Amino acid sequence: MAGYLDARPRVGYFYTGKTGSQLLTEKIKKIKVAEFTSMPVVVQDSATVYEAICTMFLEDVGTLFIINKNGHLAGVASRKDLLRASMGKQEINSIPINIIMTRMPNITYCFKEDYLLDIAHILIGKQIDGLPVVKRSTNDSGLEVVGRITKTNITKAFVELAHDELL
Ligand code: ADP
Repeated sequence: MAGYLDARPRVGYFYTGKTGSQLLTEKIKKIKVAEFTSMPVVVQDSATVYEAICTMFLEDVGTLFIINKNGHLAGVASRKDLLRASMGKQEINSIPINIIMTRMPNITYCFKEDYLLDIAHILIGKQIDGLPVVKRSTNDSGLEVVGRITKTNITKAFVELAHDELL
């Protein structure tokens, strides 16, 4: 009965008046990125497009995060970025991934403390599949990649909510 009833000193239990749908909405709004983040898959900005394609295939992800020599977020490469780079007559064995990636400062990222619902709005609004989860480096202004939030993570959250005792 979580949420339907509340307790107050000297009053005891009382009906909160909230509907199941109101309680569900409250619950969704409280979910943080940290609860559903996945491990990030990163490649160095010196890696070739070919190496990036191999990493994406072997790690079974749709988005790679590119880091610079300091280990900070430098860019993002999606499936279609890599497909596009493979379509022309370019030599994918020699072109570095940093030539074709979407680069900082144009990367949309998030923090573990952000709300998952806000990330869902960003993914829809920007028409992208995922965001790197970052933390600020303690030494400088760089961003360290600590996780990955994609549409799949949000689907998992959706399924988990359906299994919740509230429903
Ligand atoms: P795909 O290109 O395979 O459809 P996306 O929709 O995720 O995959 O990516 C679309 C474009 O947006 C790509 O050029 C990609 O580099 C870029 N992109 C993906 N994720 C981000 C992000 N978090 N921030 C900025 N650009 C991104």
